[in-house]
Amino acid sequence: MENQYEKTIAAVATAMSDSGIGIVRISGAQAFEIADRIYRGKKEKKLSSQPSHTIHYGYVADQEELVDEVLVMLMRAPHTFTGEDTVEFNCHGGVYVVQRVLELLLKNGASAAEPGEFTKRAFLNGKIDLSQAESVGDMIAARNEYALKNSMRQMLGELGCRTKELRGRIIHEIAFIETALDDPEHISIEGYQEQLRETTKKIKKEINKLLKTWDNGRIIKEGIKTVILGKPNAGKSSFLNALTRRESAIVTDVEGTTRDVIREEINLQGITLHVMDTAGIRNTADAVEKIGVEKAKELAEEADLIIYIADASRLLNESDKEIAEICREKKVLVLLNKTDLESRINEKDIRLLFTEHISVISISAQNRTGIEEVEEEIKKIFFRGELSFNNEVYLTNARQKEALREAEEALSRVEESIYAGLAEDFYSIDLMEACDALGKITGETTGEDVIHEIFSKFCMGK
Ligand code: GDP
Repeated sequence: MENQYEKTIAAVATAMSDSGIGIVRISGAQAFEIADRIYRGKKEKKLSSQPSHTIHYGYVADQEELVDEVLVMLMRAPHTFTGEDTVEFNCHGGVYVVQRVLELLLKNGASAAEPGEFTKRAFLNGKIDLSQAESVGDMIAARNEYALKNSMRQMLGELGCRTKELRGRIIHEIAFIETALDDPEHISIEGYQEQLRETTKKIKKEINKLLKTWDNGRIIKEGIKTVILGKPNAGKSSFLNALTRRESAIVTDVEGTTRDVIREEINLQGITLHVMDTAGIRNTADAVEKIGVEKAKELAEEADLIIYIADASRLLNESDKEIAEICREKKVLVLLNKTDLESRINEKDIRLLFTEHISVISISAQNRTGIEEVEEEIKKIFFRGELSFNNEVYLTNARQKEALREAEEALSRVEESIYAGLAEDFYSIDLMEACDALGKITGETTGEDVIHEIFSKFCMGK
């Protein structure tokens, strides 16, 4: 039976909608041969006899019939994304025309690629590790500057390199124990426990450092789930308008919008805010009462951040108290709005109602003052002002986090064994486990079913 990876695969690599250019790509041992069958260049030019990494103008034809005018990019193995011979047809970007070119390739010997199969081949051919492959998916899904930068860093292999290095150090210890146990006459294991304890401690510290980036990593990748609460007429919609207009109005109605809550996505200085906007019922009666305290509670529970808008020109009352109760144990930012009017409450009153350390910012949504401070404060609340585009790699993938956690646990067991004075072979078992766990990040020890699962989530043509 034909080996799956001996097949030459083809797929449309660009979005299936009308656009300027549509790319159909083909990868595998027969890529050049198949491309030759549908390409018509000047003077009977054969693509298979052209040098690697060159571009050729010509036509795609079905026998005598010309189908499209194209530019063809040739890339010979191994210097390609998949590590295989690859040809890309830059066609006119109509849905029908790219579909025709793909069909022609399939008719001439290529097989339809599965979702993510190009990237899977890059992984299986050793061009990239699993963390890099996953970052390709993250890059496509990136919705803000930080997510893009972080996936780029992972794509360059930073996380893979770090975990490989830690794994190497563990393997070194396993090898030492095994050799010492095999040859006790020549290799003394005396005092080794102390040394292993030190090494384990150092590796655990590095792992914990990575694990600590998870919360922020998730926020960077998925965005901050934000709920805007406030009494009617406090200025919720005005604030949202002020915010979105500043941020070049990258506001999208997200699917799943319900009757009483509007979900919007705002790109705020490189971070995504998913705003659950109770102002969806704006201009009706008391927003909080209308959606009910229960609904507000439900939203607040889901939220990473609650923005509470208080009207500075009105006194605080029972409703405010109720909301303060909901906000307990959450990250909260209180905005004292309408400070252009005569104020009847101040930041101190808010702090008395919530807690002493709550972030309060005075704004005027109408005059658009204080909005910049709000943006800065949100960053401070989540990243303590430490978020930068510098060298930190943030953990954004639950599978990678789980692997690191497993490794950390196994290393803790090694420490316990040392402490309990157990025999050396006990250390090896747990060291091996830590090693396997770290290997799951780069894919060295990842099961085939998990690999299949990861790539099947990719989009077609990637
Ligand atoms: P919501 O019900 O909480 O969404 O409140 P709106 O945004 O609809 O605002 C209610 C009223 O307050 C509107 O008439 C706004 O023009 C007004 N308003 C909102 N923000 C300010 C502000 O900063 N200063 C003043 N003076 N009026 C404001």
